[in-house]
Amino acid sequence: MASTFRLSDAHFHLDLFEDAVAVATEAQRAGVLTIAVTTAPAFYARCVQLASGNDLVRVAAGLHPELVAERAGELPALLELIGATRWIGEVGLDFTDARADVRSRQVAVFSSIVSRCAEIGGRVVSVHSRRAARETIDIIGAGFPGTIILHWYSGPAGLVDRAVGNGCYFSVNLPMLTSESGRRIIQRIPRERVLTETDGPFTRTGNQKAQPGDVIHACDALARLWKMQPDAVRRVLVENVGKALGELPEQ
Ligand code: MN
Repeated sequence: MASTFRLSDAHFHLDLFEDAVAVATEAQRAGVLTIAVTTAPAFYARCVQLASGNDLVRVAAGLHPELVAERAGELPALLELIGATRWIGEVGLDFTDARADVRSRQVAVFSSIVSRCAEIGGRVVSVHSRRAARETIDIIGAGFPGTIILHWYSGPAGLVDRAVGNGCYFSVNLPMLTSESGRRIIQRIPRERVLTETDGPFTRTGNQKAQPGDVIHACDALARLWKMQPDAVRRVLVENVGKALGELPEQ
């Protein structure tokens, strides 16, 4: 039986912290259900070690789009891991690099990851889509048999409706909530599809790298945006996590 949680960080890079064991222990203590994404299969086993003993910290197997150029050879290892764990991420597309060959390789890799997840079913997938929202949403398509969480979505607000129609969830963070364009996107997402994330260490709380417990600041900002009481917002978010992640089976 898993521990109960009161908050959730749906996208966090545990293995990029020097004191990762302490960070995982603190996430557990604070009751934060955390998806610890990884950026390549080569880092997966170590991250599982770092998180071990903390049943609220789930380690996801991933291959970050920006690493695809140098690590495409690890795709078979990821396809193998998709059979072994239901937590997948960070995967997706990043079209910041405009080169056609870089983009087409990312598309090929992400397409085979999505197909493998669909074939097995029940996977929870944290997806990056910077400057490639349309292509990412198209590859996922409608009726994906699992859970897609679009992480730090920054694409056109108009595409949110299509992603919602396809059943996607969105993990939102404090930088989104403190920017005009981010708030416009979040206002377009139905409340029952919103989850929270930190993407630590890539966001900060004050001058510190954000840790899972810092999602409380995103919850408070959502309360202001939605004009709701913070405790009511946290209840909505816990309910959303339950729907998105299912009954929280074992790793
Ligand atoms: Mn990330």
